[in-house]
Amino acid sequence: MRFDVVTIFPRLFDGPLGEGIVRRAIERGIADVRVHDLRDYTADRHRSVDDVSYGGGPGMVFKPEPLFKAVEAIRAGCEVDAVILTSPQGRTFTQREAERLAAMRHVVVLCGRYEGVDDRVREALVTEELSIGDYVVSGGELPALVIVDAVVRLLPGAVGDEESVEVDSFNRGLLDFPHYTRPAEFRDLRVPAVLLSGNHAEIRRWRKREALSRTLALRPDLLRTAELDSEEREILRVLLNERGVEHGRD
Ligand code: SAM
Repeated sequence: MRFDVVTIFPRLFDGPLGEGIVRRAIERGIADVRVHDLRDYTADRHRSVDDVSYGGGPGMVFKPEPLFKAVEAIRAGCEVDAVILTSPQGRTFTQREAERLAAMRHVVVLCGRYEGVDDRVREALVTEELSIGDYVVSGGELPALVIVDAVVRLLPGAVGDEESVEVDSFNRGLLDFPHYTRPAEFRDLRVPAVLLSGNHAEIRRWRKREALSRTLALRPDLLRTAELDSEEREILRVLLNERGVEHGRD
């Protein structure tokens, strides 16, 4: 899968793209991430990408021309499935959105700065706007990296067994179960006995129960759309009953 990211700070991408799962996926040819300097698509001596806001007020706005030129150059001779504008006003980027994008072949991501981008870019160039959450960061680079990372780890072959995505939180709409590693006892803190028992059926059931009980406690909203198997539905029914009893006692 190919990503083209357009930014005025291309060096911000060196570290995150140069380590870990994303670096390996790039080296193996699973992901192709190209970072473009927006200033390369300017025509003036100062390579200016921004200007004052029509109507007045503080803050600068990205001009439309360089962004249009950048996307047109990326599009030349190849198909682009989506042109994403990173924006706090966009649809929230979730694991489902990451899965949707991971099925695409070629995605362009535009990183805003300052007050954002001239709205004609949104009207005529962008196919979707994505937000990483209800807060404002200084630029679209961190959101773009969040999107690239979350999508790349879903590409077949990107993540090895030791980092399997199958049990990740949100994979099936549930939070992940708790993980432990050696030593079995650390400063009087013990790993749950079931995990040391070697009883795989018991461990599997314990993990399901823990994932469900965490989701119920921390993110009950996820349970509305979670894909549960019959065993999980039964465990959830028991957990809800227990909770009902607890609340009844309060
Ligand atoms: N004035 C804009 C607003 O209130 O909608 C915020 C501009 S913000 C300082 C500059 C850029 O950072 C945005 O154009 C966008 O690319 C990026 N950005 C900031 N917060 C974001 C978020 N939560 N999700 C995605 N992109 C974000």
